[in-house]
Amino acid sequence: DGKWERAAVIVKELEEKCGTPVWKLRQVADAMVAEMHAGLASDGGSKLKMIISYVDSLPTGDEKGLYYALDLGGTNFRILRVHLGGKERGIIKREFEEVSIPPHLMTGSSNELFDFIATALAKFVATEGEDSRPFPGRQRELGFTFSFPVRQTSITSGTLIKWTKGFSIEDAVGEDVVSELNKAMERVGLDMRVAALVNDTIGTLAGGRYYNPDVVAAVILGTGTNAAYVERIHAIPKWHGPLPKSGEMVINTEWGNFQSSHLPLTEYDQTLDDESLNPGEQTYEKLISGMYLGEIVRIVLLRMAEESALFGDIIPPKLKIPFILRTPDMSTMHHDTSSDLTVVGEKLSYLLEISDTTLRMRKVVVNVCGIVATRGARLAAAGIFGILKKLGRDTVMDREKQRSAIALDGGLFEHYTKFRDCVEGTLRELLGPEVADNTVLVLSEDGSGIGAALLAASHSQYL
Ligand code: ADP
Ligand code: MG
Repeated sequence: DGKWERAAVIVKELEEKCGTPVWKLRQVADAMVAEMHAGLASDGGSKLKMIISYVDSLPTGDEKGLYYALDLGGTNFRILRVHLGGKERGIIKREFEEVSIPPHLMTGSSNELFDFIATALAKFVATEGEDSRPFPGRQRELGFTFSFPVRQTSITSGTLIKWTKGFSIEDAVGEDVVSELNKAMERVGLDMRVAALVNDTIGTLAGGRYYNPDVVAAVILGTGTNAAYVERIHAIPKWHGPLPKSGEMVINTEWGNFQSSHLPLTEYDQTLDDESLNPGEQTYEKLISGMYLGEIVRIVLLRMAEESALFGDIIPPKLKIPFILRTPDMSTMHHDTSSDLTVVGEKLSYLLEISDTTLRMRKVVVNVCGIVATRGARLAAAGIFGILKKLGRDTVMDREKQRSAIALDGGLFEHYTKFRDCVEGTLRELLGPEVADNTVLVLSEDGSGIGAALLAASHSQYL
């Protein structure tokens, strides 16, 4: 009947507009490379900020001592204590704690947020055992992973440019996040100092390099998305500082803000953008990351409910609630292997209060999940390909084969299997089999936390 015809047309149009044939992905990658060049040439030269991290050397494995790390960049923050034993002993001990951030603190005041964090840190520090105390007379040192765009001014200072991923704390914008944290730690009486301010992407790069010397870049696919990589200092025209000994500098691309006419954008993406906290910004992130994939699916389903009465004559009221369909739920539906899509039925009923769905309806939902996830994953692969291209690692070098590894982190990549498989498959498609055989994506197990602790160690005031 007409309802199904209209539904089929909507899905078909969605599929076409979300199409990512290889030639298009190459255009996206080339645009990414061009923007990288522009961003390296001058500040403000591109939507890609290409932020200089002040990290000019990565961990070698020789790091020793007791260090802390704090990872703030999404719905949770993580605290880590790690005891490093150098080349011989490696990581002797590590202890974790994860704390979820009460939603009201994500849009409150700077002091409230940082006091909450400092209090949790102080509690964690209080659990130090006999074997895990800093040397007498020494301050504890912390690697601070802060995963929002920051204008870094040194390894221990950086001002917040803007919030992303649902955070919006006006009085923190333009402030030095290190001094905000240091002040909060003082307020709660905690004797600790920030030794390195990094981004989760740089933390992941450092952690990845610690385990694997082939690691040249890191990519986050979680609530948000970002990438960092090791650039030759001579390829950074906007760097006017001293020449680092390594001849290299880690660049935080902030690729989530990438934008290009080659990106396959739809009316649904426009709707999402209009409704978002940051319209016109983070375009690439809104196509790819975990914060948005489920929401895109919701917007498409709502349109279908309105225009094709997909779910009956009444538009399911829950379907009108932004962000009610989260990416983990989308992933669960997408991975439903039961012949009658039982899991999809349950999710629709439980989350959206759409009961009595037919198999045909459920198939449409899975189809939409597939289209949205595939587009995101393939665009992420194009970005990775762009970075490899920028580094000249997209081709086979004559004699010795260069090996490249990219450290990946984030719940989206870790848990959304179809998404991850699609990223890997697409990257292989773009690189070709020979280069692909010498390129690996390695999942970092809390690489960013360990990485930040490692960078605190290599930037310790006691070295
Ligand atoms: P963050 O990015 O907030 O630091 P994570 O790296 O743990 O945190 O990523 C969490 C994000 O990963 C969630 O916001 C969600 O979008 C995504 N995610 C988590 N679990 C799943 C899942 N099972 N399927 C799909 N996406 C998931
Ligand atoms: Mg994270």
